Amino acid sequence: MLRVAIFTSEAMPFAKTGGLGDVASALPKALKQGGEVDAALFLPLYEQTDRALLRERLFDNLEVEWAGGRQHVGVWLSEAIGAPAFLIDAPRYFQRNSIYGFRDDHERFAFFCRAALAALKRLGPPPDVVHVNDWPGGFAAAEIHARRVFDPYFAATRTLFSIHNLAYQGGFDPRDLEWLGFAWGEVHNAFLMDGAASSLKAGLMLSDALSTVSRRYAYEMQTPGQGYGLDWVLRMRSERLIGVTNGVDYDVWNPATDPHLAANFSADDLSGKRACKLALLRRFHLPEEPDRPLIAIISRLVAQKGYDLIRDAAGAILETGAFFVALGAGAQVYEDFLQRWRDIAPHRIGIYKGYAGEPLAHQIEAGADMFLMPSLYEPCGLNQMYSMRYGTVPIVRATGGLDDTVENFDRTRGSGNGFKFGEYSARGMLGSIYEALLCYAEPEVWRRVQLNGMREDNSWQAAARKYVELYRAVLRL
Ligand code: ADP
Repeated sequence: MLRVAIFTSEAMPFAKTGGLGDVASALPKALKQGGEVDAALFLPLYEQTDRALLRERLFDNLEVEWAGGRQHVGVWLSEAIGAPAFLIDAPRYFQRNSIYGFRDDHERFAFFCRAALAALKRLGPPPDVVHVNDWPGGFAAAEIHARRVFDPYFAATRTLFSIHNLAYQGGFDPRDLEWLGFAWGEVHNAFLMDGAASSLKAGLMLSDALSTVSRRYAYEMQTPGQGYGLDWVLRMRSERLIGVTNGVDYDVWNPATDPHLAANFSADDLSGKRACKLALLRRFHLPEEPDRPLIAIISRLVAQKGYDLIRDAAGAILETGAFFVALGAGAQVYEDFLQRWRDIAPHRIGIYKGYAGEPLAHQIEAGADMFLMPSLYEPCGLNQMYSMRYGTVPIVRATGGLDDTVENFDRTRGSGNGFKFGEYSARGMLGSIYEALLCYAEPEVWRRVQLNGMREDNSWQAAARKYVELYRAVLRL
């Protein structure tokens, strides 16, 4: 059986800010179910992590070489996700009021990586593959690359680096490379980027193989427009780069069994969806008019998610007469826009500013008719797939994973599971919204789009099989 250690900075239900949190726990679980891989997850123990999820404190005093001296950390075991999860307890770095956003983030995750590698050694024989995710994992890839030469424990271990978002690069002052232990030879150079140090770049350069979360994004990230200064690295390593579209954990995202909903429903009987919509309207203090279309969005409030288009189109969206419900946390400018929009039209617009956790996200997916994702770029995107399963029709821009997973509805053939536009503009987005609203006005047509989406199979099983192939391929390198 293949042994794979997955390093992540977030994973449900321990800590989550976005899609990585969903993926990092669904993948090891699916791998375990597939029976070919013994997968274990490693992540920091955050202040935000619910202690009830922990089973036992395996090590009290794991020694970690750090900054020329030694630090000691605890390691906890949890069995909350269907595969073992090991949580690194280093209060100095992780007992803080948020998961990211500190000046010493590079130090925090470099430390996490080093501690996780130390934990691996204490736990037993080396893993075949260490699978790291996004910039926080770059430090582990660099360290294994370097250690392999002199440390027999890591001699045969291969690394896979998964890119969930290329825009977050883990930049820091290159002078810190010295005391972090990366200031020599090719490892040092791998970190350097435009006068700064980047753990993302180091991971891309020094990992044995690379993957990202959709085929389309694998291609897009190699272009100057979407490469965030790293497209040349990705072109250089394109033979080692593959796109594997994320799956959906249908144990968690299933309208037939979802415990958070006012009523359950399925493709065979959609009647419960109406009760979910009414509950959602009440939740946002909107008039109880269940026949009026309801468009929703759940996303981090950042430019990537297309909020500029929504702002530009705000008046036109109101004129359609549809309800609009937005859940999001992030940039102040977008929070202010949402607040103003809601103040102008409290009978049409419902907002929740902040990170709401799982129940509300599920209730919105179930209660909405349409789900808007006008992203500037989108590595994979999960909400469009959640939406489809909940009979909520996605309206997306044709980029990254959105382009791969959403097929534009064709009225004459009755094919397609959503509405898709190409041009990144308010006009482009409104074109698709109008088209969706026209279809919504014809219940038979609408039912067709909904069912096409609900019957889509985006389960993790297929994606997990691709990862198994990838792990085997990286071992042959
Ligand atoms: P990204 O990883 O870029 O944030 P994804 O679509 O891949 O985008 O994943 C976003 C995940 O985070 C989804 O599960 C979504 O429901 C959740 N999410 C985003 N913002 C919030 C929020 N404010 N409250 C609750 N859940 C949120």
